[in-house]
Amino acid sequence: MKNANRQMKIQSDKEYSHIDFENGIIHGKLKQIRSSSNLDFDSKNPTLTSVWCCDIPAHLSKPLIMFIREFITPFDTKSLPHIKRFDKLDKKETQTYLRAIVCSQDFIEEIGSLKRYIEQNIERNDEFKNVKLYTKMVPMQQPGTKEVAQEWSQDYWPMSWKGNPYHQELKTCNIVLRKEQDAMTQLLTAVESAPSDLPIVTIFARENPGKDTHEIIKIFYDSRNNSFLEHSILNAIAGIADQEKCRRSKDNTITDTGYLCQNLLVYTSHEPCIMCCMALVHSRISKITYIKPIPSTGGLESHYQLGDRPSLNWRFKIWKWIGEEEVQKLESIDTVDRTTNFHA
Ligand SMILES: [Zn+2]
Repeated sequence: MKNANRQMKIQSDKEYSHIDFENGIIHGKLKQIRSSSNLDFDSKNPTLTSVWCCDIPAHLSKPLIMFIREFITPFDTKSLPHIKRFDKLDKKETQTYLRAIVCSQDFIEEIGSLKRYIEQNIERNDEFKNVKLYTKMVPMQQPGTKEVAQEWSQDYWPMSWKGNPYHQELKTCNIVLRKEQDAMTQLLTAVESAPSDLPIVTIFARENPGKDTHEIIKIFYDSRNNSFLEHSILNAIAGIADQEKCRRSKDNTITDTGYLCQNLLVYTSHEPCIMCCMALVHSRISKITYIKPIPSTGGLESHYQLGDRPSLNWRFKIWKWIGEEEVQKLESIDTVDRTTNFHA
């Protein structure tokens, strides 16, 4: 069992020379927005998420690990690095049994689809035919302290405690700088073409595993001159919702979770206002990256850290782009003073 967990871990033991843990900076260009108070959440009542599990005899752990590595990890956006993949069960007769987490239920919702996916892709698939799959609720966020990790291990599922959760996230976020740089370049090109009094732009994108760039879904501008609520983020959420409804109605292989922006990536020029941040929480995006902080009204680093609050039912990752070239370029385009009472 230890072996099984260790083998899963080997792939994440990379070099961390690109990470500045103390300041939360990756590649010198992306700053993790964090708040220490977020580690003191209600440990008695964590936000839970559903995962698919199975019990297997120990000799099937190897094909399962290979399957997870190749067919789950690269695609399942809900990574739960704080949760141990395998746990030892009591011996049944002479056999040692393990229970394992296969994937999140967000990734594959239905048991039938999961069974087919396993059967098509796993080695020794005949032996997996009789393996029973079941769901379990596990804590979505990382435990803030070692004691909480121990508590949750007893109450939910074995947790691994490796230190400060924000540091763990820096290690496991799998950011590909080339993809982020490309999204930023596209964002700034759009900013240049925006109306000069409102050079505020938002891009919605989708993860594109195995490809060189993210899939850019659409670029949205701020149009509050038409109507005062048309901030670029709100325009984007409305626009993506329309587009996604249309896409889903044409393609019945897409499982409809009801959340039209779920797990999308957001790139935006300015720190969004509180209203826009709440809309992003409700839309269940997975990550936001912005360039310019708005100290008076921003809802991320400036106020409330919306998107990373244990009390809300959805969390997304928050990054600020600090690459000098892009920051200066935005400054040179957006010369309006937005320090007082401007809502991006
Ligand atoms: Zn706004």
